[in-house]
Amino acid sequence: MRTHYPTIIIGAGIAGLSCANSLIKRGEDFLVISKNIGGCLKQSKDKVVNYGAYYITEDYTNVLPYVTRGRKITELNAIFYDEEGNGKTIWSIGVGRKLQQALRYRKLLREFRGHFKEMREQAAIKSHAIAIEENQYLKELYSTPAKAWLKQHGIDEFIVEYIEHGIYVTAFRSLDELSAFYLLWLSLPFVTPSYEFTFDLEKLSNPVQDAIQIDSVTSINTESHPYTIRCKSGSEYTADNIVIATPSGPAFSLLNQENPNEAVHAYMYHLRGTRKPKYQSKHYHFFHISNPTICLAEQIDGTFLLYGRSKEGINIDEYFQSYDIIAQHNWSPAFSVRMSDTLVPVEFKEGIYMIGEHNIPSLEDCFITGVYAASQLAPQ
Ligand SMILES: Cc1cc2nc3c(=O)[nH]c(=O)nc-3n(C[C@H](O)[C@H](O)[C@H](O)COP(=O)(O)OP(=O)(O)OC[C@H]3O[C@@H](n4cnc5c(N)ncnc54)[C@H](O)[C@@H]3O)c2cc1C
Repeated sequence: MRTHYPTIIIGAGIAGLSCANSLIKRGEDFLVISKNIGGCLKQSKDKVVNYGAYYITEDYTNVLPYVTRGRKITELNAIFYDEEGNGKTIWSIGVGRKLQQALRYRKLLREFRGHFKEMREQAAIKSHAIAIEENQYLKELYSTPAKAWLKQHGIDEFIVEYIEHGIYVTAFRSLDELSAFYLLWLSLPFVTPSYEFTFDLEKLSNPVQDAIQIDSVTSINTESHPYTIRCKSGSEYTADNIVIATPSGPAFSLLNQENPNEAVHAYMYHLRGTRKPKYQSKHYHFFHISNPTICLAEQIDGTFLLYGRSKEGINIDEYFQSYDIIAQHNWSPAFSVRMSDTLVPVEFKEGIYMIGEHNIPSLEDCFITGVYAASQLAPQ
């Protein structure tokens, strides 16, 4: 069995697979070791329902070639619940009354979108950490608490009443825990069309299929070169370069480093059944931050996803008259979105790269981190 490779990628989620695809196009030799293929791109057995990443936005230029767009996601198809559990549509929430603030927020979002687009283009060439660092506007937002920024712009009432629901559903966190950068980034679907999607995982994994080994990496020795990787199966490999493409927690733990990105966790049920009358209208039900259940979403095939912060926090009987569980999954960790002024560089030390969600957890940004790492490993 071959045990030495110029490059070993740990993790075959979108970041690891994008890196592998870029390397193969550059004629590079590598091995991918991963517990599974797809990571957060986990789907139902019939590939109709996404259990992890749920939406894409129109500006996911790297990801779009791998997806078929599904339903457009719009707040018109959602019910937002207050602390007492009363459901409201966006019209009854009072967006009209806060029209001035809503318009101001849209203007600020468009300004952010321009900077963000520019930063993303740069990230493929110089990494997200440096691209954000070099953009004064984004850098400042990165370390400014969301609520302080909202007050400063006089739009806090509108956000707390309306946007905070949408943020909780996408970040699984409250505004108190986020920076202005994340608030604006997570709000981009309000100004950029977003869609459900079907991801063609084979299109991304087939070109590198022969280089993938299913296993779990238990330790990395970065003290002597070539670096050594040990796996759960007992296999041991050496590599000149290692690309760690796992979520932040496992990545920092493999490097024996403290993780600056505290992850959120979520539990998911995929159900077939009949909703209670209160929850029968609209596709999406977004619950209040005080509710450990996060959202209930009707799927295109008539089944349902029910998300909560933990398994114990979800009472299925509260939402369904009758049901069968098709699948359930513990997203632990789910992803890292937080208030932090730490930007994680891609190159941890010579020949050791960390790609994926560390700075921005989205399919598009994780894909870009893979492209960037490949460009460093095999400059053209
Ligand atoms: C519930 C949920 C909803 C989301 N919604 C959206 C959304 O709507 N839109 C969006 O753009 N993004 C969304 N995201 C974020 C997005 O899916 C992720 O940021 C992105 O997919 C992460 O890709 P990745 O390749 O970095 O990591 P992952 O997809 O986590 O892949 C990491 C891979 O590493 C493997 N691995 C981990 N540890 C080891 C080890 N020790 N040894 C070997 N292999 C290992 C895993 O098995 C996995 O295959 C969501 C994420 C979650 C969890």
